[in-house]
Amino acid sequence: MLRPGTPQGARGELTGSVKAITVETKRAGTARLEDVPEPGPHEGSVLVEAVAVGVCGTDVEIAEGKYGWAPPGRERLVLGHESLGRVLDPGPAGGLKKGDLVAGIVRRPDPVPCPNCAVGEWDMCRNGLYTERGIKELDGFMSERWRIEPEYAMKIDPSLGVLGVLLEPTTVVTKAWEQVAAVGQRAFWEPRTVLVTGAGPIGLLAALVASQHGLEVHVLDRVESGPKPELVRALGATYHSGSVARIGFEPDVIVECTGVGQVIADSIQGVGAGGIVCLTGVGSGGRTVALPTADVASAMVLRNNVVVGSVNANKRHWYRASEALARADRTWLARLLTRREPPEAFARALERRPDDIKVAIQFTEA
Ligand SMILES: [Zn+2]
Repeated sequence: MLRPGTPQGARGELTGSVKAITVETKRAGTARLEDVPEPGPHEGSVLVEAVAVGVCGTDVEIAEGKYGWAPPGRERLVLGHESLGRVLDPGPAGGLKKGDLVAGIVRRPDPVPCPNCAVGEWDMCRNGLYTERGIKELDGFMSERWRIEPEYAMKIDPSLGVLGVLLEPTTVVTKAWEQVAAVGQRAFWEPRTVLVTGAGPIGLLAALVASQHGLEVHVLDRVESGPKPELVRALGATYHSGSVARIGFEPDVIVECTGVGQVIADSIQGVGAGGIVCLTGVGSGGRTVALPTADVASAMVLRNNVVVGSVNANKRHWYRASEALARADRTWLARLLTRREPPEAFARALERRPDDIKVAIQFTEA
């Protein structure tokens, strides 16, 4: 059924549907590219044409049926939370204009709301009733066109072009960095060195943000070849492969981006006195690590150390992330985006290949 004001399709004809990548949540192997109804104004007054959507481990988990919630009353969810799009119709609210590049904020506050959501810190939601585009009860951005509320659309520096697709993962890092800085303020704090564990997209963006803050940056990963060591060195940082115990110094800050039990245990034991370990990676199970809980307490108590977990991001972190990306070297950022696939090849985009850093599904040119 056509609604008044339905936009024109790629070939100029009026269309009541858009192509989107959807999954039946909690069932593996159900991802497909299909026609879904044109997104309606209830999803937001800003109409956006998709440019690219980044793929991350969460998308892979949702496609494997391990995570994700469809909107209430439906079985399928439009996938995708690392968005980049071009404004087709800014709607009545000011601030955006046709042609602007934007990314959509992912999380929405819970409806209660909890105290943190009430003050706009939905990243710190206390009751877990928040919703998330492409993950939890709200359709995502892997759709030819999507809509968003103007206050949740973040404008992207136009000179970033397709690299704006890196904004969402950068927000994870700017939130984590704010947590580290907040913990640091409990005492006199003059950090000099930071170790980032894991040189995936989050780890490399964490290294970028740490270097922008003027710290001596070290990055540790398992691999000894491929693009990661050179990307680290191009930031003026030091690359290590092997274990945290063998890097040869005690970092003031460790940003843990692997979620691997052994690396987490090594980080807790390896951080310097008065140090901060910020956990951003999420894993589960795996090999049991021989680090008795009382030894964790000893490592922390006797050296005043803090382990802090950090997830998601609020608007303040999205703003800081957009500033960080705008300041970053474009050539370096471009090397993070190692593979782009068209929407029809979404299955290939969900595969993980050895030299992949960030893979994106590209809908149109930036
Ligand atoms: Zn909340």
